Amino acid sequence: MNYQPLFSDRLAILATMHQKEKVIAPLLQQELGIKVTVPSDFNTDIFGTFTSEIKRPGTQIFTARLKAEKALELTGESLAIASEGSFAPHPLVPYIYSNREIVVLIDKINDIEIIGEELSTDTNFNHQVVENLDEAYIFAQKVGFPEHGLIVWFENLDKGCNEIIKGITKEVDFTTTINLFLQKSPNSRVNIQTDMRAMYNPTRMKNIEKATHNLLNKINSCCPQCHIPGFTRTENIPGLPCELCYMSTPLTLTAIYQCKKCGFRQEKRFPDGIKFANPSQCMYCNP
Ligand SMILES: [Zn+2]
Ligand SMILES: [Zn+2]
Repeated sequence: MNYQPLFSDRLAILATMHQKEKVIAPLLQQELGIKVTVPSDFNTDIFGTFTSEIKRPGTQIFTARLKAEKALELTGESLAIASEGSFAPHPLVPYIYSNREIVVLIDKINDIEIIGEELSTDTNFNHQVVENLDEAYIFAQKVGFPEHGLIVWFENLDKGCNEIIKGITKEVDFTTTINLFLQKSPNSRVNIQTDMRAMYNPTRMKNIEKATHNLLNKINSCCPQCHIPGFTRTENIPGLPCELCYMSTPLTLTAIYQCKKCGFRQEKRFPDGIKFANPSQCMYCNP
């Protein structure tokens, strides 16, 4: 095994209470020799929840960083991992949802921060208002229940709040909750949404695993000048020639790699391993 010597045999604190260690810990142990532990009483909900009772304090990366820093502060350790997910319409295909997962590693001894990420359209992120049990079942089947957990809620206008039940993974609980909430809801409408917390959502867990792989790739890429991990692609310059007419296309011709630690920059031609673009990507051949 070829452990990264900066991290080998070190203890890392994973800031989670949603069982993300299931996918993150084995990878870091196998690939880097890091031992991962999860603090027993770490409440990550103070950093925001998907059901937005608590707003996230900042951007996704800012929030992940904050969790990692908090874990280090609580434990007095020097190495921490945290992850954060977001769900939004896909940046290029607005009518489908996408899940962006990031996994950040912070090392106080070597003053390093490396961020792995995954942008995937593989997500069941969804929400629906239903008026009867049949509608509720159709939605539940569509989003992969019971393997994927659900959240059911309605607005309780008398009390000025929402009644909400999260983490539903059994059909009997689902049926009971829907029937009860349909009765209690003042307009007989009940909201169902997918529970996006990692342990209730195997599809999301897979994306967190992919983001961890991306983190490992970045860790294994060391700066040619200072040899610190995290020498990563920071910029793409378009202009890859079309293989038919040789005009420039929007595809990447040159990538810039940069070290966050010492600032060393390197240009790489044909970073994606291809020297010409397919004519379908060319605005002259395929306008
Ligand atoms: Zn460097
Ligand atoms: Zn062309």
